[in-house]
Amino acid sequence: MDVYEKLKILADAAKYDASCSSSGVDRSENDGVGIGTACAAGICHSFSADGRCISLLKVLQSNACCYDCTYCTNRRSNDRPRATFTPRELADLTIQFYRRNYIEGLFLSSAVWRSPDDTCLQMLETLRILRKEYYFRGYIHVKAIPGADARLTHQLGLFADRMSVNIELPSEQSLLRLAPDKNKQAILRPMGQIHEEIHQSKHGLVRYRHAERFAPAGQSTQMIIGATNDSDYQIMKLSEGLYQKYQLKRVYFSAYIPVMSHPNLPAREGFRPPLLREHRLYQADWLLRFYGFQADELLDAEHPNFHPLIDPKANWALNRPALFPV
Ligand code: SF4
Repeated sequence: MDVYEKLKILADAAKYDASCSSSGVDRSENDGVGIGTACAAGICHSFSADGRCISLLKVLQSNACCYDCTYCTNRRSNDRPRATFTPRELADLTIQFYRRNYIEGLFLSSAVWRSPDDTCLQMLETLRILRKEYYFRGYIHVKAIPGADARLTHQLGLFADRMSVNIELPSEQSLLRLAPDKNKQAILRPMGQIHEEIHQSKHGLVRYRHAERFAPAGQSTQMIIGATNDSDYQIMKLSEGLYQKYQLKRVYFSAYIPVMSHPNLPAREGFRPPLLREHRLYQADWLLRFYGFQADELLDAEHPNFHPLIDPKANWALNRPALFPV
């Protein structure tokens, strides 16, 4: 299989990951009329630490997963084309795209290829070639792989600008039900390590100019919305806890897109990805991050979900007429 065939498979497999703010636009060049295309394989848009919008090559190192998460197209029991980049192939491809001005950086994730450590080693070697052989200075966002050795996660953070660990589902019960190879502790461990190392790195840089830089653009996470019965209240409480404990830059919400039928998943027939719910969660997330709201002010056990027709801020106001016109 040549490298462009691998790219097709591995860029397509990466499209479900929302944690790099993919634009989601799919617009071709319209039969030769006009210029430009918004659906070039694997190119997405993200925001760097200083707020610039940058285009990234968004791709997996491998989609040959040894885990079997029910909701995922890459799970081991799904019959689909598999591919794995060698580190050299992926580093060369990134540099070629960069030189042609297609991209300004790389968003690198991976399925669990053989084991978390093996996967991490492959990703690490890709980043090493980019940073140490090609002296690539562009933006790199890399996924940490839960279960990998902490020393490998540390090395990834020294090459990357931003890191993320996917929390995947809003509760431990949901993980047990849909992602039996994963568990909450294994996901939170690298998140805690990354938080600690970012903190130490910032502290070190204040005192020594040549201190090591560890993921200077911070860390983020994403969770899938609508594949389980978890309420908006649970999701907001979890997000609030993650912001407070790990100082995440963002929690991304990804509306569940059905890729298969399974008794543990919502029925596919007539199912539509809960995009409005995803939108309401982002609105509420904004209230948490920038307006000092707490999850308990927006929802509670008696009203565990946002109103689909009213945005969370207006809903908050309507429930507090005594404070009008604040
Ligand atoms: S670990 Fe689970 S979610 Fe990740 S690629 Fe493998 S099957 Fe998919």
